[in-house]
Amino acid sequence: MREGGVVTRKQLDKNNLGHLEDWRGNNIAFACPACGKIVLVSGLSDKDGHSCPCGKSKGYVDIKGETASIES
Ligand SMILES: [Zn+2]
Repeated sequence: MREGGVVTRKQLDKNNLGHLEDWRGNNIAFACPACGKIVLVSGLSDKDGHSCPCGKSKGYVDIKGETASIES
């Protein structure tokens, strides 16, 4: 994502969501760490993840809603 930087991937824990994270079924939402925008990711329509419009973070959730992660 970030040019020349290191992409970190954070695994979300359904039972221990962060203050700026939400998870329902196979959808997750998170606040972009770079710009603060709320990004919604659907396991149904975003099979390759969904990027924040600023391009600095990306969320992933599988179609069954079992695993989710955020890259930033
Ligand atoms: Zn952003």
